[in-house]
Amino acid sequence: MPNLVGRPRREIEALLSGSVDAPYRARQIASWILDRRATSFEEMTDLPKALRAELAGPFEIRDPAIADRTTAPDGTVKYLLALEDGATIECVAMPEGDRATLCLSSQTGCALGCAFCVTGALGAGRNLEPDEIVGQYRVMARGLPGQVQRVNLVFMGMGEPLLNTEAVEKALETLYETVSPKRITVSTAGIVPGIRWLAGLPRPPKLAVSLNAPDQPRRERIMPIARRYPLDELLDAVRTFPLDGGRRITFEYVLIRGLNDRPADAVAVSRLLRGIPSKLNVIPLNEDPGHIPGLARPADDAVEAFAEAARRHGLVVTVRRSRGQEVAAACGQLKGRTAATHA
Ligand code: SAH
Ligand code: SF4
Repeated sequence: MPNLVGRPRREIEALLSGSVDAPYRARQIASWILDRRATSFEEMTDLPKALRAELAGPFEIRDPAIADRTTAPDGTVKYLLALEDGATIECVAMPEGDRATLCLSSQTGCALGCAFCVTGALGAGRNLEPDEIVGQYRVMARGLPGQVQRVNLVFMGMGEPLLNTEAVEKALETLYETVSPKRITVSTAGIVPGIRWLAGLPRPPKLAVSLNAPDQPRRERIMPIARRYPLDELLDAVRTFPLDGGRRITFEYVLIRGLNDRPADAVAVSRLLRGIPSKLNVIPLNEDPGHIPGLARPADDAVEAFAEAARRHGLVVTVRRSRGQEVAAACGQLKGRTAATHA
């Protein structure tokens, strides 16, 4: 049965053309699904009752099921969602006043095997379908506090979005109908052809690149994909990414004790990024001895010293507060925990 979730309005219109008499009906239904996160036709009170009943036969409005939900004292909500085939994924909602950032997964695992990443330690998974991506948005948006007016979406959950371009493209087209491309960020480990593909979309979202090291040898050590797409090629691709309206490229940098955390490393990063309108997002490692043994988060003063050195050398730097640590809200961590429990 076709699921109406994860489809842009034009596709819903085409699917429903035999069932509804006027195009505005299909638009109403699309808006119920995306803007109001309806879970059934019955809720669509401005549709004739007979039509609601008629649509419920051949069409579904289906989201992933919530297998587990944990809320941290700071309001961060981590979801473990179960998909139709039994695979599970996680996503995280981080409300803050009248805004919220929703972190989406693009695959059920990740084949890229970065040394510091729990998703990577769990291994490869399958690509998510558009409805499974948009479904994460719908589930999390429904659970947000009432005062949230504006959401940002980041593809920073499980998996590599630029290895699932087909579903990501359709999910973006759908999500753009309710969230502006300016508020959507796709994060990549550095898939060069994927970055060029994203740059060529009619309306590209924002780009984040997981840099994580100040030079090629160290990047290769912790990110195997760096061998395939070396830093110089990666940065060349990034330089061609469209930056309309004062946008910047976000570079994520997971700070790992003794590995990439010296102030001199920050200086090297500032040299690498010279000339690229960028923002460095420093993320102190979320430790997980079970999945990423031997890797530690630097002490707070080392994190500050790194950030300060990068700032002194001209970079715009943010340090990610570890939100929702109590609920293990790092990349792949809730899933890691349940996988371990059931092992
Ligand atoms: N595959 C994409 C998007 C998902 S990973 C990518 O790599 O960009 C999203 C972010 O989580 C990346 O920046 C990654 O570096 C970061 N990350 C992975 N494991 C982490 C950990 N243990 N602690 C902190 N950040 C982590
Ligand atoms: Fe995959 Fe990103 Fe994790 Fe690397 S950091 S293993 S690319 S999800």
